Amino acid sequence: MNKLDMSVQYIKGVGPKKAKLLKKLNIETIRDLIYYFPRNYEDRRNFIKLINCKNDEKANLKVQISGPPIVHRPRKGLTITKIPIKDDTALGYLVWFNQNYVKNSFSIGEVIKVNGKVKRVGRNIEINNPYYEKDDGKNNILGRIIPIFPLTEKITNIEMIKLVSKALKEYLYLEEEVLPKELLDMFSFPSISEALINIHFPKDRQSYLLSKKRLVFEEFLILQLGLFILKNHYNNDEEGIKFSKSEQILDFIKSLPFTLTNAQKRVIAEITSDMESSKCMNRLVQGDVGSGKTIVAVLAMMKAYFSGYQSVMMAPTEILARQHYNSISELLDDYDIKCELLIGSISSKQKTDLLEKIKSGEIDIVVGTHALIQNTVEFNKLGLAITDEQHRFGVRQRAMLSSKGQSPDVLVMTATPIPRTLALILYGDLDISVIDELPPGRKHVKTYAVSSDMKNKVYEFVKKQIREGRQAYIVCPLVEESEKLDIQSAVQLYEELQNDHFKDFRVGLLHGKMKPADKDRIMLDFNNCEIDLLVSTTVIEVGVNVPNANIMVIENAERFGLAQLHQLRGRVGRGEFQSYCVLVNNSRSKIAKERMEIMEKSSDGFIISEKDLEIRGPGEFFGIRQHGIPDLKIANIFTDIDILKTAQNFAKDIINDDPILEFEEHIKIKKKIIRLFEGKMNEISFN
Ligand code: ADP
Ligand code: MG
Repeated sequence: MNKLDMSVQYIKGVGPKKAKLLKKLNIETIRDLIYYFPRNYEDRRNFIKLINCKNDEKANLKVQISGPPIVHRPRKGLTITKIPIKDDTALGYLVWFNQNYVKNSFSIGEVIKVNGKVKRVGRNIEINNPYYEKDDGKNNILGRIIPIFPLTEKITNIEMIKLVSKALKEYLYLEEEVLPKELLDMFSFPSISEALINIHFPKDRQSYLLSKKRLVFEEFLILQLGLFILKNHYNNDEEGIKFSKSEQILDFIKSLPFTLTNAQKRVIAEITSDMESSKCMNRLVQGDVGSGKTIVAVLAMMKAYFSGYQSVMMAPTEILARQHYNSISELLDDYDIKCELLIGSISSKQKTDLLEKIKSGEIDIVVGTHALIQNTVEFNKLGLAITDEQHRFGVRQRAMLSSKGQSPDVLVMTATPIPRTLALILYGDLDISVIDELPPGRKHVKTYAVSSDMKNKVYEFVKKQIREGRQAYIVCPLVEESEKLDIQSAVQLYEELQNDHFKDFRVGLLHGKMKPADKDRIMLDFNNCEIDLLVSTTVIEVGVNVPNANIMVIENAERFGLAQLHQLRGRVGRGEFQSYCVLVNNSRSKIAKERMEIMEKSSDGFIISEKDLEIRGPGEFFGIRQHGIPDLKIANIFTDIDILKTAQNFAKDIINDDPILEFEEHIKIKKKIIRLFEGKMNEISFN
């Protein structure tokens, strides 16, 4: 075993108790400690003079012990020890409470470095409970730039500094250089050891910046290499399928009750050209809510059908899968194309039957949920794999779907507009098509943010709409940590509304933990206008399409991501009626207010997600983790975009030359990649 993988307990001074505290910071091994980066720095290179000390401010001093300790016992249980100090400007005292031993710690005339908060009363200068160092070169935290670590209680920054210093001193030599020498030279990057020392204890600003850049670059390079390898594994550059031209599709388009928008036409042309070429299609279709992505997918699936191939379409929820299934079946009514639905909730007999038919090729199009990526699902001749609402799936799930066929074409659809910066990471090597136009006649959804004391007014407004024949949604937030509690609150809200404000109306309830059959019944009732007001958790977030519903109230709107609010809002404004979205904001924070204002002002999903990214940072942004992307320790996808691009280009070159990193010079970086992606790489027999 590499010693860097040993428990932190091998560091002197770390026992089981401390190890437990460190674990809370995700520090378990010596390597974790070395890679635990500061969140900030304090420049303690300069010492000030005693005379310049300001009351209540921290001071960094170099002083001489000027006299013997003075010990007071003002009352029982309190001992005050004062050590007289001086420099060439003034006199003062270091003061400790109940720390008797300090009286023996100094000798008169000795020079020490001190850091602590100043208490100044008149001409009297005292530093209470100071941190000090002898001027002997050991342990020197004073007189240099020191790291400020992100910490939890019970571990002090100084303790952390000491632990990291020890780890660096004793084990850093074991950390291998993974970047090729030419690359280091090209950017004048420091070696890994130098970079790690400088990121903790920068010599100066210059070396800090360069070290940081190197670490960011390396982190991106490793991440990107890992993603490329995962992608390549599942859909490598083998010959793809060459689908034939199909005239029948043109007739189908003519028969539609609407004309395609120019954006739809353009995207369809891009997909057609990919499908007809021998290259494997790998395309992301981005289009705002309601831009008409479903028909685009249907056309691609028809094309596959006419070339003799099966298609599969995976959606993140049963509601959405069912809805896709219904609209696809309806569109294909006049054709002899067999479409079926595969979801977790069908009976096992139905399922066995279905699986057999998929395997024999009797079924042409399979729509479903995660159930589709189980091992038991086998296709006869899968030619096209589509994932809808990709942001709900990880890189890996998409790849697993396409591995059901032999280099099938891949289409990914998302309504969550992804800023360019993120798309580079999340969809590194996908071609991107954008449907940047809504079908004509769509009404702008009027959006208002209100505080919770306006609720009665809001409910009155909802009632007015319902009396005019419309339907409404009330969305209560669902937070992953406590799904149970949230469902409770949805149930409670439902009961309250049904018994009070809306007792004369038909209220329905929809949440994720309901039996699928119950969910379906509720959605059907809502569709058929047998429910006026649907109280729901975010399960209605994606895809649901009820044109008569024209008003949505979102409770605790501040708890949602903006991209998510935009998705939710997309459930209304689908019909001919003026539609409304009311955001009930229970927070007084400035950020919450700012975010609500963006929703009021903008209906453009791209602008909304850019702003969200700006305000909340990429970590929070609809959960990068959901995509199956490892945490970044130092790189920031948003602010380090230039370095990301450079690293991406290098990663491409490396992968082109050496697709599974078997060259001698790539062995070390490969190890780091495997470590970063943990279990994921084992499955693909890459190591
Ligand atoms: P999304 O992109 O959100 O998945 P859908 O594909 O569900 O959007 O389309 C939303 C609605 O718009 C559907 O009812 C669909 O039939 C309709 N639609 C799609 N394209 C057009 C168009 N070009 N003109 C008019 N209506 C369209
Ligand atoms: Mg859709």
